[in-house]
Amino acid sequence: MTRLFGTNGVRGIANSDMSIELATDLGRAIGTFFGKGEIAVASDTRVSSDMLRNAVFAGVLSTGASVGDLGVVPSPTLQFAVKHGGYNGGIIITASHNPPEFNGIKVIDPSGLELAREDEEQIESHYFEKSFAVADWKSLGGARSDAQWGDRYVEGILGNLDVEAIREQRFKVVLDVANGAGYEISPIILTKLGCEVTVLNGEPDGMFPGHPSEPTPENLAGLSQAVKESNADLGIAHDGDADRTVFFDENGDFVQGDKSLALTAGYMLKKRKGLVVTPVSSSSMVEDVVVEAGGEILYSKVGAPIVARTMLQRNAVFGGEENGGMIFPEHQYCRDAAMSAGKVLEILALSGKKMSQLVMELPVYFTTKMKVSCPDDFKSKALEEMAALVSEGNVDRTDGLKIYGESEWVLIRPSGTEQIIRVYSEAKSKERADSLADENSKILQGVVDRLS
Ligand code: MG
Repeated sequence: MTRLFGTNGVRGIANSDMSIELATDLGRAIGTFFGKGEIAVASDTRVSSDMLRNAVFAGVLSTGASVGDLGVVPSPTLQFAVKHGGYNGGIIITASHNPPEFNGIKVIDPSGLELAREDEEQIESHYFEKSFAVADWKSLGGARSDAQWGDRYVEGILGNLDVEAIREQRFKVVLDVANGAGYEISPIILTKLGCEVTVLNGEPDGMFPGHPSEPTPENLAGLSQAVKESNADLGIAHDGDADRTVFFDENGDFVQGDKSLALTAGYMLKKRKGLVVTPVSSSSMVEDVVVEAGGEILYSKVGAPIVARTMLQRNAVFGGEENGGMIFPEHQYCRDAAMSAGKVLEILALSGKKMSQLVMELPVYFTTKMKVSCPDDFKSKALEEMAALVSEGNVDRTDGLKIYGESEWVLIRPSGTEQIIRVYSEAKSKERADSLADENSKILQGVVDRLS
């Protein structure tokens, strides 16, 4: 069947791929899927969000379902509202960290999780077959504004933090919200945590005038500088829809996402022993820290919705990705930037250490990422041929092909969106990681050449 949803909902260029026709029909399909009742809708700060929101509304209302409009809030705020607000489901109009011309639509199930693949397929079949519920004029849905969730979400986060311990420290932080959906709520949370907050790019602006909304060290040079100049304890940056967050230490140095993930995993395991879920692409640093802390690691397929669902099914203590997406199950089963920021401040407060010190104590690994061009048609065949070349005992087939060695691994994984196969490697030295990735890319290239 043709797919509409990618790993993070439907994405495309606004008013082109992401047209009002698509948004209306998708609204109709979503309304049909959830049935009568109310669906919560929120958007990020993008220029096209108003247009798409109204198109989605029209589609949903035509099926007889109603909408509660949360306005512009972080994705995790909408997910919190769906979980606690008695909504049938949720819709988020966002393209997360993509460039400003993009927008997207993501669907949330009644428990606040991103929709499971089998449910997406049902919506896709309503969409492609145009099998929409059509309400008669007397039973059309209605729209209302539901603005209470910002405050309730703030309370929800504070309820899961050691607020007193954090407040005592009077942390100085610089927060970069990238002109995105976290612009209002995250500064409030940090202020309530007793922090002296400097906000960068704090105006909601869908052109992202400050910098692109992907939280990479290159895009966040201004934040790094501001941390140094103001002698702050921590730099915090969100992506466009404020579900991911990355950190800068007190020297203005970028903290890789796998490091904040490992640090937080170790901390969460101090409170409760159990399972930590992370995709196969994550650094072994996370596993080392988890094992050291008496926990257990469970590798999942790549994709935050899969990590979240696995955590729920296996009653995990914590989980997340190396791109700054962290999931705290006692709060909710989705990535949450503000919650992650609060938790890292709690770790700093209770350890009494600087961020750079905490990072320095982590195990050291080096990673290399390469890619090999491969047409979609040959991807799975190329992967199977690569698998046939390695001995079975050292192989993990959770997602793609992961080949383990002594304190090192290579992951060969076809991209879901591009005509490439990615080759990731990790080892104890940069040279070894480079040569592992290089060797395997060459072998893979040979396999692809033969197939095409
Ligand atoms: Mg995001």
